[in-house]
Amino acid sequence: MIISGKEISTKIKDQLKEEVEQMKNKYDRLPKLAVILVGENQASQVYVRNKERGCSYVGMDSLKITHDATFSEEELLNEIKQLNEDDTVDGILVQLPLPDHINEDKVLEAIDPSKDVDGFHPENVAKLFLGQKSLVPCTPKGMMVLLDEINYDLTGKEVVVVGRSNIVGKPVSLLCLQKNATVTIAHSKTKDLKEVCQRADVLIAAVGRAKMINRDYVKEGAVVLDVGINRDENNKLCGDVDFEDVKDKVYAITPVPGGIGPMTITMLLHNTLEAFYHHQGE
Ligand code: NDP
Repeated sequence: MIISGKEISTKIKDQLKEEVEQMKNKYDRLPKLAVILVGENQASQVYVRNKERGCSYVGMDSLKITHDATFSEEELLNEIKQLNEDDTVDGILVQLPLPDHINEDKVLEAIDPSKDVDGFHPENVAKLFLGQKSLVPCTPKGMMVLLDEINYDLTGKEVVVVGRSNIVGKPVSLLCLQKNATVTIAHSKTKDLKEVCQRADVLIAAVGRAKMINRDYVKEGAVVLDVGINRDENNKLCGDVDFEDVKDKVYAITPVPGGIGPMTITMLLHNTLEAFYHHQGE
């Protein structure tokens, strides 16, 4: 089974669109996402544009704020403070990476946790760790929705997550644990990675190395979620998994592009809606 994140995300966005449409009669304002971009990173510009498009698709308000790479840390912190105090703003997202002279941790900590739609603020990270309700990072949240969509029950399953980043590997591991999976987190220092991966009922690849996971890493009938976004030898977009090599061996797999990627933005919209309801006292 090829899990089409593209189709599933469109379905969810259409549901969100309907929800936003109905909000117009119930509330005096619409959910609003503020996205801040500092510098000229091309990939970031594409991501920000896609986020804006997502907002407009579902009918939410968005505010795009761009600065050139010389914008100072102090100015950025001040801007975040203003957005924190602005009652019409539900979500604040600072596009990463930031230029070197700006401390990312400081910036993420400055965002009001109730508006932290990326789920990167230490308060939200702690809540996720504790299993409390919080704004959950978008990519991991999207993966859990995909598993739900294929009615896959994680209880008792072996999950191997390759990658231990704060934005993907660690949070998705916690979410799988919450769903009663037995979770192994692998990384660049893991010994016998192939053997570790072969144990997985669900293999999550979040590494950033083109096609490194081939069929030798994959157990027959496994579910494979491929987070990686890379370029192959022909400069074509590809994941961390060698899709063609693996696809006949698995029960289900997400393609790249069209798998996890579209879910990430949809979950950002979902988080913004959640933040809106929270700000409405619901
Ligand atoms: P990071 O670079 O932050 O983390 C990569 C992880 O992979 C690290 O934990 C690293 O280990 C591990 N790793 C690197 N090489 C190996 C190896 N040879 N064997 C085993 N583990 C290894 O990346 P991100 O988590 O931010 O992103 C991962 C990928 O997912 C990237 O391709 C990124 O573009 C993509 N991505 C896609 C998103 C989407 O929406 N689809 C969203 C976010 C990311 P160590 O910690 O030891 O260095």
